[in-house]
Amino acid sequence: MNKRSIRVLLLVEDNPGDVRLLREMFREQNSLRTELTQVETMREAETHLASSTVDIILLDLGLPDTQGLETIRRARAVAPHVPLVVLTSMDDESLAAQAFQAGVQDYLIKGQIDARGLLRALRYAVERKSMQEELFQEKELAQVTLNSIGDAVICTDISGNITFLNLVAIRMTGWSRDEAVGRPMPEVFRVLDATSRKTIPNPMEMAVARNLTVHLPSNCILIQRGGSEIPIEDSVAPIHDRAGQATGVVIIFRDVSSSQTMAVQMAHSAHHDFLTGLPNRMLLNDRVGQAIAAARRSMEKVAVLFLDLDGFKHINDSLGHSIGDRLLQSIARRLVDSVRGTDTVSRQGGDEFVVLLSEIESLENAETTVKRLLQVGSEPHAIDQHDLHVTSCIGVSIFPDDGLDAETLIKNADTAMYQAKENGRQSYQFFKPAMNVRAVERQSIEGSLRRALERQEFALHYQPKINLRTGEISGAEALIRWTHPTRGSVSPGQFIPVAEDCGLILQIGNWVLREACQQARIWLDAGLTLGRMGVNISAIEFRNENFLGGVFAILNETGLDPTALELELTESVLMKRPDATSSVLQALRAKGVRVAVDDFGTGYSSLSYLQKFSIDALKIDQSFVRRITTAPGETTIVTAVISMARSLKLRVVAEGVETLKELEFLQAHHCDEAQGYYFSRPVPAGQFARLLQTGISETLHR
Ligand code: C2E
Ligand code: MG
Ligand code: MG
Repeated sequence: MNKRSIRVLLLVEDNPGDVRLLREMFREQNSLRTELTQVETMREAETHLASSTVDIILLDLGLPDTQGLETIRRARAVAPHVPLVVLTSMDDESLAAQAFQAGVQDYLIKGQIDARGLLRALRYAVERKSMQEELFQEKELAQVTLNSIGDAVICTDISGNITFLNLVAIRMTGWSRDEAVGRPMPEVFRVLDATSRKTIPNPMEMAVARNLTVHLPSNCILIQRGGSEIPIEDSVAPIHDRAGQATGVVIIFRDVSSSQTMAVQMAHSAHHDFLTGLPNRMLLNDRVGQAIAAARRSMEKVAVLFLDLDGFKHINDSLGHSIGDRLLQSIARRLVDSVRGTDTVSRQGGDEFVVLLSEIESLENAETTVKRLLQVGSEPHAIDQHDLHVTSCIGVSIFPDDGLDAETLIKNADTAMYQAKENGRQSYQFFKPAMNVRAVERQSIEGSLRRALERQEFALHYQPKINLRTGEISGAEALIRWTHPTRGSVSPGQFIPVAEDCGLILQIGNWVLREACQQARIWLDAGLTLGRMGVNISAIEFRNENFLGGVFAILNETGLDPTALELELTESVLMKRPDATSSVLQALRAKGVRVAVDDFGTGYSSLSYLQKFSIDALKIDQSFVRRITTAPGETTIVTAVISMARSLKLRVVAEGVETLKELEFLQAHHCDEAQGYYFSRPVPAGQFARLLQTGISETLHR
């Protein structure tokens, strides 16, 4: 169907004479075959238009229910897309002009127009209306597009005055459309070169003069109306009329602050650790290199500290990675806060950090910092509801003594750290060239351990546990001692891990258990009141399939009452495979053997979890007991463990009590038992027997 043909015409005319005349005119020109509907009032017209489609409306302005412009307004309101032609006897130019403004397509005067003229006017009216609609839609489309794209758009006319801004441009410039339109472009679009802070040459003039799309120099900033600055990128293109004459320009620009930030972030992340934000391995190597160069010139020294957390893997396994991650972040912050701004703290990965101390004056200097770092790291970390305690070990290497380049220094600090680990938790070690034979040394311990059993180099010492209510000895802990033929005494902390690694712990553990049970039996037979004999069991022993069989066999062999034996297991041993653990513990309990959790508080297991196991006692690790003296503000863990253990009906033993103050605190909080140098060091069997006879001479303070 031809869109522009007139099939239905609505005539709104109340004068019967005029109606007749018009009908005749149409009949004359019947080629159009227009269907003519006529109504007399605006009301009728409105009703008709609401329910039927018409192609054009021919409207008299003097109707019984409405007059003049109001007639047009009402017709437009009900049929905004239908072309409207006015046919009136009012020959009034100003009214005609207003009618056009109100949206009519033509204004005809009765008596001045013939049939052909009328029909032509109607046809043109329909054409004009349809073109207007198309144009409107196109403009709408352009507007919507311009407003919805992410770039800002400003258009100007040829004299450089603004004709249009889209929404993004309004937001970025800070100018409203009404205020901006008509203003010279540079007033609204104020752009400076970011470096020189000079106004850049008007891009519009260039675009028009060269008749080309031009770009602003890179690194431009837009000054917003309020004075804020936004980095932008832009292009300026001329707009042409049909004859190819420039009639203005379109400026398209965008905010590049986010992509700039992204570029900066990407450069940052190549050199920094994502978790802690610290410099990574790569950046550290650079920094060490720079520090070495500077130290060469100033004849000073540089220290590289390799720090590794103790037992971090265990925290991660038992509390989950997210808590582990937060602990690492917390450590990172403390390390950074504890060194000078010129030093570098970096994360190597995992729980390893490397700290570069540039320009140190003396080794004592470095040592002070090392001690400080160990200290700040070991203070409790409050993460979620946990108060995490973690210690670390640090290995130190020095330029130029221990290496002349970054790689060697870091490697040697790492080696020294391993040595520190062997010295025990929370320790540090300066690199020594001999350390490269560390592995050899370990092998030599292993070799001599194998012979130690045959040569009877092991002995047991016994340390009393004291009942804090009565002051009586309530038991003993058997602790192994090794006297090496050349090295002298080697501490269990040094050789037990080696024995565990090479499997010798099974034989050693077996010897310890038999020896301790025999000794207990001897004392009991001699009429001494021993209480329980505590024996430490390592993870390897506990998980061995012959463990239970071995314990029961030794009890049989020695004839010791199983209730006099207490096995000490660390939390980590218990938590490892809870199901298997649970059944082993039940089997022990069924025989009457007791179980204590050793070093409680260092393994991060929860008391409620331990509750599932058949255990009898908790031994609070000595690091917590020590805080009673060194950090009286941080004793909550001790009091919490005591009260929770009591509510679970577990006996609480405090380890490593060294001072009266610690003892009094523990007594005040109703701790059941205590053990430590304050009462007695671990002593050989003969001496212990005397303690059993005489009692501990230290009087207990109530
Ligand atoms: P543990 O079972 O926690 O033993 C307590 C450690 O603290 C012992 O160190 C003991 O000498 C020490 N100690 C006791 N009172 C105090 C005190 O007041 N202050 C201080 N600073 N320390 C105190 P030791 O004998 O060097 O043993 C270290 C660890 O080696 C033991 O820790 C235990 O885990 C392990 N161990 C010792 N003997 C054996 C054993 O026969 N078999 C196994 N598997 N492990 C053993
Ligand atoms: Mg123990
Ligand atoms: Mg312990």
